[in-house]
Amino acid sequence: MPELPEVETIRRDLLPALRGHAFTHAWLSPEAPRLVQAPPAAEFARLLPGRRIENVSRRGKHLVFHLSGGLYLVVHLRMTGALLHRPSDAAPDRYVRAVLSLDDGSELRFSDLRKFGAFWLVPDLSEVLGRLGPEPLDSGLTPSLLRELTARRRAPIKSLLLDQRALAGLGNIYADEALFAAGLHPQRPASSLSHSEVERLHGAIRRVLLAALEDRGASFSDYVDASGREGRHQFRVQVFRRTGKPCYTCGREIARVKLAGRSTHFCPKCQPLEAAAARAKRKAAS
Ligand SMILES: [Zn+2]
Repeated sequence: MPELPEVETIRRDLLPALRGHAFTHAWLSPEAPRLVQAPPAAEFARLLPGRRIENVSRRGKHLVFHLSGGLYLVVHLRMTGALLHRPSDAAPDRYVRAVLSLDDGSELRFSDLRKFGAFWLVPDLSEVLGRLGPEPLDSGLTPSLLRELTARRRAPIKSLLLDQRALAGLGNIYADEALFAAGLHPQRPASSLSHSEVERLHGAIRRVLLAALEDRGASFSDYVDASGREGRHQFRVQVFRRTGKPCYTCGREIARVKLAGRSTHFCPKCQPLEAAAARAKRKAAS
């Protein structure tokens, strides 16, 4: 599933290409009746044409098109969605669920094999994005804010990182990579992290996301950018989907556990669970 670096890569490509252009037509496939979450699909297709794109921003894993007349088009790619910017005479793409035509003769094609992707066309962004936590690359996410988030939670730290209401934008890839970079076992209760561990995690999240952005995201399965090109970060990950392969740091085999239904990859030596638990116990006893 595309996460913050993938969605941000798409945003950075689309903004200069689309700013100032207006939508002229919206075609929605009858085979994807759940794509448009709000308003009803017919209303969506009626309201979009004529709207000019004033800006393209991102919030968590959502792309946000700021449109003239005070409307926002919000796009969530979910599992297999891709937003492809093509000339209208380009060869057909597969699994296209929506085509949004633009006044320069180009079109945004929404390709989505699994059909979990979602569109919203709303006057108020808080309807869609209101419950999201802070952006990990913004100055708003300080070590002390992350400390507040972890202190309240007994859930595993990995679960906290995946919770979009706690922190917006991380998914399975970058949660695993950030925990490796911070040397933290994914099953550690969030509230057991010491101040210095939270600080390490804060730095690790930012480093991991910025490195992935440099690589234009990771293409493990379906992710492609707005031109249909894959990212490169899948070649630079430390633990994600490296089960059984040697850790680049210590040589131990990368392990995998299921955590909240998600495959979780980590190095048992670089990310110890036991030592930390013992330290936490000693701390609680003292
Ligand atoms: Zn290791």
